[in-house]
Amino acid sequence: MKIDIIAGARPNFMKVAPIIDAIETHSLSMPGLSYRLIHTGQHYDKAMSENFFKQLSIPAPHINLECGGGTQAEQTANIMVAFEKELIQNPADLVLVVGDVTSTMACSIVAKKQFIKVAHVEAGIRSFDLSMPEEINRMVTDTLADYFFTTSARANENLMKSGIGSERIFFVGNTMIDTLLKNLTRLKAPKEWDILHLHSKKYFIVTLHRPANVDEEAKLRYLIEEIVNNSDSLPVIFPVHPRTAKIIQAIGINAPNLHLIAPLDYLEFNYLVSESLGVITDSGGVTEETTVLDIPCLTLRDNTERPETVELGSNELIGTDGTNIKPALRKILDGKWKKSSVPELWDGKTSERIVEILYNISRRNLLQ
Ligand code: UDP
Repeated sequence: MKIDIIAGARPNFMKVAPIIDAIETHSLSMPGLSYRLIHTGQHYDKAMSENFFKQLSIPAPHINLECGGGTQAEQTANIMVAFEKELIQNPADLVLVVGDVTSTMACSIVAKKQFIKVAHVEAGIRSFDLSMPEEINRMVTDTLADYFFTTSARANENLMKSGIGSERIFFVGNTMIDTLLKNLTRLKAPKEWDILHLHSKKYFIVTLHRPANVDEEAKLRYLIEEIVNNSDSLPVIFPVHPRTAKIIQAIGINAPNLHLIAPLDYLEFNYLVSESLGVITDSGGVTEETTVLDIPCLTLRDNTERPETVELGSNELIGTDGTNIKPALRKILDGKWKKSSVPELWDGKTSERIVEILYNISRRNLLQ
């Protein structure tokens, strides 16, 4: 079975890395399972793409569709046109998409229209908030997919409620956590550790890139002020997502304990997270990583598609209006934050499970 694995943006790379690794590891015991890695080019700069390939030993993509930039619609359209051409020239038996970015949705549509099976990794999670582009991407992808690999029982329920038969849903765990667990001993301090004289449990990390938090200058300014003014003067390290960079410059915000830095590479970012006192974020992936690392995490959102990070993990939803930042930071500073426990099957073996299931599917298809 020829599988096209799609990766387009930063949060995809850590999700595909262990799947590719598992396919390569089992190339002898699972004959006939082969893959091509297709990079759509959605994220194209070094800090958001190339560096992850190097650090996570992801093989160079077989194809790069080079569809970076543009509006959501332009990007969707460009990816669809380029991937359709590619699939016509080199048909695959299955297209495997991960997560919820534009590339995930665009490639699912193209594959399905060419009668190619689609497998979705991280299927079924829902925020039920259609103001988030990711929610639309998830819904479209799951409407089209044939095989659903899920991270939680809740995701299974969401899929079954929408009429998908349980025989197509595979609760396997979390490939992003495969990557985290595999790399725990490789995490390393970024240069900012020495430059900013950071000490373990004596600083906070911030990542923000969702439109609801970063598209309005006054709003973003208020959020950042609430964070830096209520952190007991501890350093606040903010690796700025490219989406947020322009507006941050326009705001021109300055505080002695605020350190705006470039996006970090994976090993450095997760080192800083694992040594931090707490994380303030609107990233879905970061809430999963902090859950496994048992680091207090404040999510500046009103909802989450990953409720297990709140119910079992170290994450709390504190809304987007900023009013809950002060009491939440106080709780962390006073050492009163809840302890985390790790969700079921987030055990580092998810990709192995996925590849075994794909192999079984390919054998079954051969017999049909
Ligand atoms: N990440 C990183 N460097 C950073 C910020 C985040 O390597 O400066 C990693 C983080 O560890 C996680 C992923 O990027 O694995 C999350 O990506 P992002 O926040 O862009 O996407 P989301 O999870 O919100 O879809």
